Amino acid sequence: MDCIFCKILSGEISTKFVYEDDIIAVFNDINPQAPIHLLIIPKEHITSIADITPSNIDVISHIFKLIPKIAKEQGLTNGFRLITNSGKDSGQLVPHLHFHMLGKKLLNPYFDA
Ligand code: 5GP
Ligand code: ZN
Repeated sequence: MDCIFCKILSGEISTKFVYEDDIIAVFNDINPQAPIHLLIIPKEHITSIADITPSNIDVISHIFKLIPKIAKEQGLTNGFRLITNSGKDSGQLVPHLHFHMLGKKLLNPYFDA
């Protein structure tokens, strides 16, 4: 499949993981928008949050279970932002579900809507 994140997961695109287990991988965004800008992705190819169903919902609870631990390890004691884009109108560039975790910077309080 021609998916950048699946290529990262297979090792075809070499990427250092800051966290990995059987279900998810976490790595730095190639074009960071803040001093900390991580991407948290499921190993299963799910296109976006719009494709969550009862059969793959466990991936989401796994990710959210780990978010406090990842944030702590990254030193995000002042807070962070978690974003997921879904589909064309959101500007989603990579059609493999991912959560952006941004921090270590006072982020703009307004959404670009
Ligand atoms: P989206 O717009 O789909 O929510 O965000 C996709 C993100 O993936 C972008 O922030 C972009 O910089 C990042 N990205 C795209 N290709 C690569 C890559 O090959 N490696 C890494 N580490 N990040 C990537
Ligand atoms: Zn994929």
